[in-house]
Amino acid sequence: MLGEIKGLNEECGVFAVWGHKDAAQITYYGLHSLQHRGQEGAGIVVSDGDQLSIHKGLGLVTEAFKEGELDQLKGNASIGHVRYATAGGGGLNNCQPLLFRSQTDSLAVAHNGNIVNANGVKHQLENQGSIFQSTSDTEVLAHLIKRSVYPRLEDKMTNALSMLKGAYAFAVMTEDKLMVAQDPNGLRPLSIGRLGDAYVVASETCAFDVVGAEYEREVQPGEIITFDENGMHSELFSNAAPRRLCSMEYVYFSRPDSNLDQINVHTARKNLGKQLAEESPVEADIVTGVPDSSISAAIGYAEQAGIPYELGMIKNRYVGRTFIQPSQELREQGVKMKLSPVRGVVEGKRVVMVDDSIVRGTTSRRIVRMLKDAGALEVHVRISSPPITHPCFYGIDTSTKSELIAANHTTEEMREKMDADSLSFISIDGMLKGIGRKHYDSNCGQCLACFTGNYPTEIYQDTLHPHDKITSG
Ligand code: SF4
Repeated sequence: MLGEIKGLNEECGVFAVWGHKDAAQITYYGLHSLQHRGQEGAGIVVSDGDQLSIHKGLGLVTEAFKEGELDQLKGNASIGHVRYATAGGGGLNNCQPLLFRSQTDSLAVAHNGNIVNANGVKHQLENQGSIFQSTSDTEVLAHLIKRSVYPRLEDKMTNALSMLKGAYAFAVMTEDKLMVAQDPNGLRPLSIGRLGDAYVVASETCAFDVVGAEYEREVQPGEIITFDENGMHSELFSNAAPRRLCSMEYVYFSRPDSNLDQINVHTARKNLGKQLAEESPVEADIVTGVPDSSISAAIGYAEQAGIPYELGMIKNRYVGRTFIQPSQELREQGVKMKLSPVRGVVEGKRVVMVDDSIVRGTTSRRIVRMLKDAGALEVHVRISSPPITHPCFYGIDTSTKSELIAANHTTEEMREKMDADSLSFISIDGMLKGIGRKHYDSNCGQCLACFTGNYPTEIYQDTLHPHDKITSG
């Protein structure tokens, strides 16, 4: 995926195990399969029933855990996390799970998403004497749970979650309980699976396949599920709103072998491509997709249009992770390092280049240039998501509104800037149809805020960048 050079970044991946003697090892493999959701840090907390043990480190899962370190984590329950730092910045302190020890018990927290009122809640807690050990928005949940007066952990959790707004898939563990929760809009994915008698929980179902678990069900919007000595039990902590799963999970972030809300991601992407071909046909010789996340959509476009799909560019898999680069020039160098055109395929051809999204527009411009330099006669750009005109506040780092090219330019202006022969985006209805949802309304099952500006939660001033102006709440 090109996320780190395109400007779209997913925040995190969560994995948990309850009731298996190899909990830490299973979590390690689960996190490995969620690596695409975050490469800046990884960690695992394990419970042996009496105490919690932790290991976390910076970098990829394989870098965070050196040989022998996993063997130190003994117990039957665990939670793990891979992190991409959007809220709170990088550094080991912000790597998750966060672990809080007290004289009576301990609490570990892992989170995917973004809490939009975190700063406000944090100020209140600090005024009441709380001291925070990280700058992560996740830590507020732990403080709210610790301060809650309810005796039962489930009630403490309900009480704490009722104060938080935004997107969250949480995994929380004590010595004798594992709890997972989903925000009332179900913005981020979270599924439950079975591994023999044990339970596993993961941000994406691809992690189940890797560890040999069977998918059981999704965690529902506004649901807390507790695993303890009595098995698994569920409570609704909020009047769940209709589900608003992040559309970009289907378009771009999730692995193609994952199913989200029981819809396979590759199939959804292929259908997006078919839909795009129906909406925006063009005469061309070949269709190619930007690897890896746009290949499924390109195959769908080619199939629907009756134009051959070809490998018009390849990704160099051995380039190290591209760190967030401050200048446009460096970003463009990143593209050059990662992608190469297949000259023998594109030379002398009219090419349809399918990509999943346009954020700042710099990547698309580079790719069009690259294909033309390799001899393509025409490059027609087809995008399998609608124009991104609004920033995301729910854990996807889509930049500020001022940096979003579609927020500030017409399609024709964008086409001109990227020197493409034509440019089209899928419509919102077309995207929903491709995913397999009903037409656009508040029950369509998807968050569409970055395309429409209709955010499913309140957005707080402290989450806004000075350049951003929210048009609806
Ligand atoms: S605003 Fe866009 S990126 Fe953010 S959660 Fe909604 S659909 Fe996903």
